Amino acid sequence: MTKYIFVTGGVTSSLGKGIIAASLAKLLQARGFRTTIQKFDPYINVDPGTLNPYEHGECYVTEDGAETDLDLGHYERYLNTHTSQANNVTTGRIYQYVINKEREGAYLGKTVQVIPHITDEIKRRMTLLGQNNQFDIVITELGGTVGDIESLPYVEAVRQLKWEMGDENALVVHLTLIPYLKAAKELKTKPTQHSVKLMSENGLNPDVLVCRTEEPLYKELKRKIALFCNVTQDAVIEALDADTIYGVPLEMMREKLDQICLQKLELPMGTEPDLSRWKEFLNKLRYPKSKVTIGLVGKYVELQDAYKSILEALIHAGAINECKVEVKNIHSEHLTPENAAEKLQNVDAMLVAPGFGSRGIEGKIDAIRYARENKLPFFGICLGMQMACVEFARNVLGVKNAHSTEMDPDTKDGVIAMMEEQKKITQMGGTMRLGAYECELRSGSKAADIYGSTNISERHRHRYEFNNAYMDAFEKAGMIPVGKNPKTGLVEIVELPEHPFYMGVQFHPEYKSTVENPHPLFVAFVKAAKEAQENRNGHGAHHKFEKSGVAEG
Ligand code: GLN
Repeated sequence: MTKYIFVTGGVTSSLGKGIIAASLAKLLQARGFRTTIQKFDPYINVDPGTLNPYEHGECYVTEDGAETDLDLGHYERYLNTHTSQANNVTTGRIYQYVINKEREGAYLGKTVQVIPHITDEIKRRMTLLGQNNQFDIVITELGGTVGDIESLPYVEAVRQLKWEMGDENALVVHLTLIPYLKAAKELKTKPTQHSVKLMSENGLNPDVLVCRTEEPLYKELKRKIALFCNVTQDAVIEALDADTIYGVPLEMMREKLDQICLQKLELPMGTEPDLSRWKEFLNKLRYPKSKVTIGLVGKYVELQDAYKSILEALIHAGAINECKVEVKNIHSEHLTPENAAEKLQNVDAMLVAPGFGSRGIEGKIDAIRYARENKLPFFGICLGMQMACVEFARNVLGVKNAHSTEMDPDTKDGVIAMMEEQKKITQMGGTMRLGAYECELRSGSKAADIYGSTNISERHRHRYEFNNAYMDAFEKAGMIPVGKNPKTGLVEIVELPEHPFYMGVQFHPEYKSTVENPHPLFVAFVKAAKEAQENRNGHGAHHKFEKSGVAEG
């Protein structure tokens, strides 16, 4: 029978529930248990696809094309397994389902209510992944903080599940904060006591407390927390601030979080966790031999979470290159042809981020021109690739008004244009080209060399595409469409073979990078940054891009 662990949060948001859930899952997986994680978010949006990154950080995309919370990215990066649509549920999705059923007449004249109809639907979805004996353990992270009005139906659903399944089959891990008051030189347990009390007023008692803290919890304090929060003493887990999120699984192992959960779930301890690959990664991450600076050009750079998967993919790629990757945020809105050189002169490579809409778009184009002309390693992702094509059309092919029809719907030179299948779409939610699609690589291309294969599959999230009417002109001028969808002919990758590293990809490679499988394109990109730095140290500046067969327009 599948066992369930519910991870709730108290006191404040941003305690890192996703990382704790993912770390626990990693340890259980390493002990041989088939483990998955899902996230339940209490907001009304049906999925976060319609949310601005300023609201909710990055929108993560799964293989099956679900637009999800960024915590699913952590789950995949830690577990090295795929999640799916079923792993992220929102209040909006629950209500939409229940209301549709009501319209069908499925409730046979009954009054449809939060309890039992909404809570029943939450329970059904919470146990969905546990069916068909796919997993030994399903971890469910509850978004939000206990005490929020919108979290109540979820707490109630967990209470009912625990009652139905029994404590040995359903466990609540509560993540809380033990603040350190500098003036009093004391760790304070009261906020945790209140948060546990709030939860027990709703009938739910935590079994394990994971306590975020800046200072170690001494024995007597742990005893006090256990006593007043009604958990066993060994179930008070210290979670000290970590130097990297990737250190947390080992910290949790040291604190025996996995063992206490298994014991309470009446499961055997399994095999001693083999985390040798994880430790090897961590070692390389902590003790790099070199350092590169990568310019991240985007319009949400002031918000760390907006480009989460890209930043993590750079960390994975840095570690494997034994190289610390320092990211220099470059706001695309502040870039101009005049200042691009100055803003980019000290970076070893440049990544132009995905995005939507016009804000900051000309700055991205200016930066790409600089990278192309100065042989600065360039990696353009989705909108970054599209703008690389616009830049090339304008400045090399001489098509002065070239643009994406997303930014300039009236342009006659839509080098990037809306995909045919997108034109009739009127609803914005969940209707982009989403999820994994195959891509065929031209043999002999840099991409094929990097992947070590000519058939790949990558995840997508876009409405616009390269306009194939420009394909020949691009190829003649040296920008080669080396990756295409074998069924539709959509261009997926463009390269400039004359450039040390110039790669534009229509898909999002960052979603597939994990600790144990860093993404090959990111690995190659960081390597190119290292080489560029070595060259620069030898020559004092980026090389000027000599003509090399490219017809300057
Ligand atoms: N806005 C562009 C499109 O819809 C790019 C999207 C992206 O960068 N994810 O095609």
